[in-house]
Amino acid sequence: MRALLAALLLSLSLPAVADTVAIRAGAVVDPSRGTVARDQVILVKDGLVAAIGADIVVPADARIVDLSHEWVLPGLMDAHTHLTLTEVTGDAPFESFYIKESTTYRGLRGLHNAQALLDAGFTVVRDIGNSADYAMQDVRRGIERGWFPGPTIIDAGKIIAPFGGQSHGMPPEQGRFWKYEYLDADGVAEIQKAVRSNIYYGAGVTKLVLDNGPYHYSLEELRAAVEESHRAGVPVSVHVYGGDAADTAIEAGVDSIEHGFFLTDVQLRRMHDKGIALVSTDFPRALLDVIGTSGGIFPEPEVLAPKIIDRLVRAHRIGVRLVFGTDIVMERAGSTRADLMFDYLAVWREAGITPMETLRAMTIDAAQLLRIDKARGRLAPGFAADLLAVPGDPLADIEVLRRVDFVMKDGRIIRQGPRAAAAR
Ligand SMILES: [Zn+2]
Repeated sequence: MRALLAALLLSLSLPAVADTVAIRAGAVVDPSRGTVARDQVILVKDGLVAAIGADIVVPADARIVDLSHEWVLPGLMDAHTHLTLTEVTGDAPFESFYIKESTTYRGLRGLHNAQALLDAGFTVVRDIGNSADYAMQDVRRGIERGWFPGPTIIDAGKIIAPFGGQSHGMPPEQGRFWKYEYLDADGVAEIQKAVRSNIYYGAGVTKLVLDNGPYHYSLEELRAAVEESHRAGVPVSVHVYGGDAADTAIEAGVDSIEHGFFLTDVQLRRMHDKGIALVSTDFPRALLDVIGTSGGIFPEPEVLAPKIIDRLVRAHRIGVRLVFGTDIVMERAGSTRADLMFDYLAVWREAGITPMETLRAMTIDAAQLLRIDKARGRLAPGFAADLLAVPGDPLADIEVLRRVDFVMKDGRIIRQGPRAAAAR
């Protein structure tokens, strides 16, 4: 009786997971090597890939997943999300989103978006700040506790910026309301404290804003951030468009430049030589038209759209490590965040980047920047069983990513059956 009860309890706490799952894959794409292997078997055990190959013996008790007509890929990653944030568009000031919504509400939106992304095959996201008062930390904790399915989340905590965060020209009597989104940090000592406080609350990346106002961080300040963060094993990413601020970021040895829309060839070459990644957030024109200048954060769409493609072409030619990141902070009726993220693929195509290179930026190169490349980003023995399957060859047409049929996260099946892509 006791054994029966124990078995019952076990089955309640661990639903529907066979010891070993054997996936029969029609083809497996390996962006880390740039190869495709046909008719593969992937054995999954304890959340990890136990074996992969054409001649794998399938254990008799394994649960079989038949994806023999599908193309299987490592789980996708987006290195620049703001899942708790939906910007108020139109004439509303940029700041309105963090005045009108509570941290709890923001956290619930973050969870909703995180689940939509996982359902679409994004098994890892790096949430890069603007998450109210550390809401994303709690979303991450809830997912890590197993309360909700969701992607692996690496989050930045609050964005570190010179006085004022990313707000502009607010009257002094409003107080420093941006402190719920940003840490004001001016001078080396304040920057060290800001980096430490984010890491204290669980940040897996340090995010700083460089050129969003008339005053930029100095080399000394930025070096302090990099040293402090790296000492804790946490990479540094900076919001920067170009100019002197980009020179400072490159010189200081940050891990990634976010956006970088106005980087010169000289700057891109230095990034390449120093191994600094570009998280290029290449907004499609249609999205730019909706978000406008984001209250003065972005240039006008007609200026920005051609710059984005030109910079992506040059970064690709120079060989900068490109990491896929989208920066979506808006909603579109009938679309999930994932649908909007897939809209970025067209920009990469227009820049002449091959599907395999794009997939690399969405998997192993993202994993390397996020410092998880020993555990995720490839389908190989010992790596997390994070994967998706699509019904066609993504190297022939990468848009097939919109039609994911199967998602597995840490060995758990998240979806099995076609995903209804947004109407297009
Ligand atoms: Zn952003």
